Parts: sequence; C-alpha cells; structure tokens
Amino acid sequence: MKPIERIREKLLAQRRALFEQVARAEDDLRGLDTNTHPETEEEAQGQNLARLLAQLDDRGNVELRTIDRALTLIEEGDYGTCEDCGERIPVERLEVLPTATTCVLCAEARERASRQRRRQGDVEEPSATLGTER
Ligand SMILES: [Zn+2]
Repeated sequence: MKPIERIREKLLAQRRALFEQVARAEDDLRGLDTNTHPETEEEAQGQNLARLLAQLDDRGNVELRTIDRALTLIEEGDYGTCEDCGERIPVERLEVLPTATTCVLCAEARERASRQRRRQGDVEEPSATLGTER
C-alpha cells in the first residue's frame, strides 16, 4: 500500500469515528433528557442540552472540514504541499497527522502567531489547521 493510500484510509477512519462519536454523544444527551424530572427547571435543562449539542456540532464540524479538505486534496493530487510556503510536507508528518496542510516550520509560525493573538486578548479556539496537536 502506498503511503498516500494509507493516509487516505486513516482519514476515512477518522471521519467514521467522528460521526460515531457525535451520534453517541447525542444519544447520551437524549438519555439525560428523559431522566430529568418535568417539575425541575425543564426549560433550562432543554437549553443546556441544546447548547451542548451546538458546541459538539461546532467542534465536530471543524474537524470534519479539515478531514474533508485533506481528502479533497488527495483526490485533486494536491495533497502534501504546504499551503503557506509551497514546500512538500514530509510523508512522515502526514502519516502522524493526516490533516496537516502546512509543513512543520509553517505550523510553528502559525502557532506562534495565534499565541500572540491570544496574549493580546483575542481569545480563540486552537485551530484544527495548526497541525501541531497530538
Ligand atoms: Zn511551509
């Protein structure tokens, strides 16, 4: 199996796992919902559940987008090129982090930039495109 095929399999597996995770979490939340007593702040509970689900969706959607983006790049034959400097991303990096769209140097530069933004008070969720997680 070529490295790119292994990476593609990995991305597809991540995608499946993500869907399963979201489905499971939704089941859990629904389970919680039916266990609440109707007389105790039913409305507040409902809002909490809705908020939780929305958060889950946001996180899941970001991850799903990065996975789908990588899969699209593979289809188009553009996968493995750093989108910041245009250099090839080493296959070893892609095998560890299939959704990486930048080389290590550019990922570090991005992380420094986002740390700086956070220090300046512009708090931001760590971006899934940084490629330095895990
Ligand atoms: Zn780069």
